[in-house]
Amino acid sequence: MKIDGKLLSEKIRAEIKEEVNLITDKEGRAPSLSVILVGSDPASKIYVGSKGKACESVGMKSNTFELPENSTNKDVIELIEGLNESGKVDGILVQVPLPKHLDQERILKTISPNKDVDGFLESSVGKLYLNQDGFLPCTAWGIVELIKSTGTEISGKHAVIIGRSNIVGKPLSLLLLRENATVTVCHSKTTNIANHTKTADIVIVAIGQKEFLTGDMVKDGAVVIDVGMNRVDGKLYGDVNFEEVSKKASFITPVPGGVGPMTITMLLKNTLKARLANKD
Ligand code: NAP
Repeated sequence: MKIDGKLLSEKIRAEIKEEVNLITDKEGRAPSLSVILVGSDPASKIYVGSKGKACESVGMKSNTFELPENSTNKDVIELIEGLNESGKVDGILVQVPLPKHLDQERILKTISPNKDVDGFLESSVGKLYLNQDGFLPCTAWGIVELIKSTGTEISGKHAVIIGRSNIVGKPLSLLLLRENATVTVCHSKTTNIANHTKTADIVIVAIGQKEFLTGDMVKDGAVVIDVGMNRVDGKLYGDVNFEEVSKKASFITPVPGGVGPMTITMLLKNTLKARLANKD
């Protein structure tokens, strides 16, 4: 059965909207997200636009700062420092990748830990590692919610994650461990990935390789989550061969309409969390 990430997102966004209305009525200020975009990469512009629209759809305030391609590290850092100090800004997000001439790591590190709604900073990652309350990385969090929405009990299950990036695979391994799954993480140096996936109750693929996971690599009844976004000749493909794998999976996410909408929804949840903690 297809897992409808758009529908689940709409449901969660309706809940977020109620909470946003409550806090805005009570304290006279809506949660606010500031998004910084440097340069004019078309894909980044689209992502930033969707984040802004999503904020507005739940009653949050969104400010987008579009800086020119030739901005310096100092330009971006000074902007972030100003936003860090503003009591009216709850969340700060820098759209990555930044233009090559910029020091991305240094720039991201400037964001205040209290406003790290992407959940990528050392402070947020450390809290995730230590099972403390903090901002969770949006895509990994969204994936866990997608799995739970199927009614699948994660505890005790064997989950195989393909991909070990800092933004998806690694944090997801920690979140699934927190849910008491037995977690295997595969990557480009793993020999015979199919040996792992064939025994998995839950398979998540986040590698950026069009239709990598094929029907013969999964067992009957597995839950399959496709994180991949591969644009080929203007068409979007996932990392899973949907045609083949959907015949065996009990639940499977499509691309588009699976993980993508949930990533932005979790960003909204983090922004609300930041607002609730930011008592002006
Ligand atoms: P990334 O940083 O490029 O990392 C890719 C990971 O996949 C690495 O760990 C790499 O292994 C592994 N890998 C690459 N080719 C492999 C292969 N043939 N077999 C096994 N492992 C392989 O990617 P990412 O940022 O995590 O993104 C992965 C995909 O998810 C991309 O398509 C991206 O667009 C998509 N994505 C979607 C969302 C969303 O909201 N829908 C969010 C984030 C990412 P090594 O570590 O050994 O190099």
